Order: sequence, then structure tokens, then C-alpha cells
Amino acid sequence: MLKLAPKVFNPPDSLNDPRLSSAFSRRAYGNMSLSYGNAEGALDNRKNFLSNLNIDYKDLICAKQAHGNNIRYVNAEDKGRGALAYATAIEDTDGFITDLKGLPLAIFTADCLSIFLYDPQRPAISLIHAGWRSSKENIVSRAIKLMQDKFHTRPEQLFAGFGPAIRGCCYEVSAEFKNYFSSGLVERGSRLYLDLAGVNKQQLLDLGLRGENIFDSGFCTCCANSDFFSFRKEGAMSGRMLSVMMLR
Ligand SMILES: [Zn+2]
Repeated sequence: MLKLAPKVFNPPDSLNDPRLSSAFSRRAYGNMSLSYGNAEGALDNRKNFLSNLNIDYKDLICAKQAHGNNIRYVNAEDKGRGALAYATAIEDTDGFITDLKGLPLAIFTADCLSIFLYDPQRPAISLIHAGWRSSKENIVSRAIKLMQDKFHTRPEQLFAGFGPAIRGCCYEVSAEFKNYFSSGLVERGSRLYLDLAGVNKQQLLDLGLRGENIFDSGFCTCCANSDFFSFRKEGAMSGRMLSVMMLR
């Protein structure tokens, strides 16, 4: 399992665990969002990317991501919500959990961090959208708490993976962020930078995850803008990458 987990970050490969598919798209697959960037072609882009994982794009479960900390348990009734139209996506949600097979969870990002959680015991999964606001509200703790309540998940058995995100090298923030975060801030000269992955990694460790079970793709969307979409770099018309996770 330890050896396999990094594969989540070599899309379009899935984890070798046959019970799990997880991956994120690169820029080359095109914009995946129906609500941001040039949405024309987004459905074809999803179809093309997800076919590599043997996932039907019409089954995707999407949220109207709100930079909050609401986590939603999803079941078969949610299958396909937001898959064909943004209007049908699940309201006001930034993370999903499920222990049901065949439900492809979707998170869309361009700089924000996507976080994959896998409990191989149940098995159960969670996929989370973590920008600075959600990270400030410790969204991973909400997801893991819900997994504990519903699935009896034990944090020390959880695997975590981080998708591409804007990193401490590029993510300049204002001084007030010192009031929000006790870790993950990097000072260089008079400037302050936020390491979203670092913040969430510390939160996961505080919740009882083992360091060796946390895998970080390490990609900076801003540095590697030719490979990934970046809102900071490209502005309002930036497209979005798709992170997807499904139990089989
Ligand atoms: Zn960077």
C-alpha cells in the first residue's frame, strides 16, 4: 500500500489497490469546470480524462464549492449530480465522504489543494477542496470526524494524498494570515507566503495520521503553470483541474 499510494499522483494511473480509483487531471486534459473558465468542451474533457479510469463522466458527483467546511456523505441518489450541469451540483459543499462503490467524487481546483483520503479497512474514501478559508476552518478534521462517526475510521490507518496546489514558493498572502495560521507560513524578506499543503499536513498529523501515510504530489500550479491551471497566475478566466476518487 505504501508503495502504491504515490501512484494516485501519476494520472491517469489509479492506485494499484483494485478497490480504488483516484487521480487528478493535468492542464493537457483541458478545463473540467462547467462554471469557470471556458466551459465549452468541458464535458468532452471530463469524458476523455475519466475514460482512462473506466469512470463514466455522467456518474460524477460534483459540488457547488463554497470555500467553507461542509462535508457531505453521498449515496447512490447523488450519483450524477453536477455531472452534466452545474445547476444540479450539491449545494454549499467542499468535501465528500462515502463507503459506497461506484460513486465517483469530484473536486475542481486551480490553486486550491485537493485532498484524497482512503480508509482501506472499511473501505471508505473522502475527497476535499481546501483553499485557505477551508484550511483555516480545518476542513480535514470535519471530514475525518464524519468518517469516524459513520465508518469507524481510525486516523492512524488513513492514507492521505495531496493534488497540485499553489505552494509556499508562489502564494503570497497578507500579514493578517499570521492571525489565521500557526503553521504553514513562510517569510521571505518582507513578504509572507502560505503553504496550503503544509497547513493541511500538520492538521492531519494532529488528527493522528502517520507521516508516512501522507503523500504529496508536490506540484505548484503557479510554478508549473504550463502543466496546471492557476487562478493566481491566469486570473478569472483560468480553467479548473478535476480530482476524482471512487471505490470499486
Ligand atoms: Zn510555485
